[in-house]
Amino acid sequence: MPTRPLVFAAVGLVGLLLALPVPAASNPCPSNAFMDVSDSPGAGEGYPRPRLEVECDGDELVVSSNAIPHYEFVQITPNPLVELNRDYRMPLNPKLAEQPSPLPLLGPSGVAINGIPLFGPNEGPVPPPGFGDPIYNAIMDSCMGHTARQYHYHALIETCFDIAREANEPSPILAFGWDGFPVYGPFGCRDEACSEIVEFKSSWERLRAPRIDAWDAYRFVPKEGAEYLDRCNGHTHDDGDYHYHATATWPYIMGCFSGTPSADAGRESDRQLSRRDGGRGRPPGDDPRPTVEQVSRAAAELEIDEAKLAEALRLTDGRVAPMNYVAAARALGIEARDLYEALGVTAQLPPPGARGGPGGRRRGAGPPRQGGRPRGPRPQGPRPRQ
Ligand SMILES: [Zn+2]
Ligand SMILES: [Zn+2]
Repeated sequence: MPTRPLVFAAVGLVGLLLALPVPAASNPCPSNAFMDVSDSPGAGEGYPRPRLEVECDGDELVVSSNAIPHYEFVQITPNPLVELNRDYRMPLNPKLAEQPSPLPLLGPSGVAINGIPLFGPNEGPVPPPGFGDPIYNAIMDSCMGHTARQYHYHALIETCFDIAREANEPSPILAFGWDGFPVYGPFGCRDEACSEIVEFKSSWERLRAPRIDAWDAYRFVPKEGAEYLDRCNGHTHDDGDYHYHATATWPYIMGCFSGTPSADAGRESDRQLSRRDGGRGRPPGDDPRPTVEQVSRAAAELEIDEAKLAEALRLTDGRVAPMNYVAAARALGIEARDLYEALGVTAQLPPPGARGGPGGRRRGAGPPRQGGRPRGPRPQGPRPRQ
């Protein structure tokens, strides 16, 4: 008689199910948030076709692309458009970290729904002395992209992703950060019933013209009102889901990571960027914070106030800006090289006279860019927008 064992099996199964912890709900694979770029016009004649594949592997979202835009490439910087084949891995079930963490100073921090990487809201050391707001400096194409080592975005324009949104509809997802949280366009529902569509706004304020050192030109000031976003440019809706919104003003996409960025998301790109510097120094995407002891020792050696040094290095005030030694040295009126040496850190950027070999690494060898060939975008002269 097979009934008894079956009954026992059923009772056993119910008991087992009751005893097991409730498994955490896994997000569905968001692959259909991404574009099908296979029949898009592509970047133009002579360029590779855009490639984009998206899948979920266990608890990871895997985006594989060649970083070629699905629309006509318009060259803005002197860098050519090149294919960069990469797999980007992000958590499928992102969680808020205890503390937000800084974006990489250089290199990708996420990927858009067409497979193009996102960079933070600052440029590299160009135009010299650099690290300015690339949108303010007008070195972007009409989709807020341009080429460095690879084509990348510093802001997101909804219409560039073939999105025809009605005014009474919320914006769709435009990208994902390395921490796995989605980045929606600027418009969304004010409440769960979606009684009204509002444009979400950055809470960062501009202190001065952000031609150089963008992270020192803006300050996060929390604001009242449901339309204002947190310092990472995100918020939690009534349904409890956290996400970022692209905004019309700085930081445009993300201001920091609210979740934990996946460890290997941008690693390959960092290596490539590092190789561009002749393999010197750490990957530019890295952001190792000096210890209190290092700062204290460096302040004594440089004969500057310890608090001032900590502030210049963004180690105070709960700031989550990426570490920028060059900007910190500039703010302190000292040579970047002296700051590196005093802190005992490896240079982030090519030393002065990089082409001249190790002689360029001497202490006090002049400003970082002197003798060094500026790389990357060289606009015809920044034309600040008002
Ligand atoms: Zn850029
Ligand atoms: Zn939202």
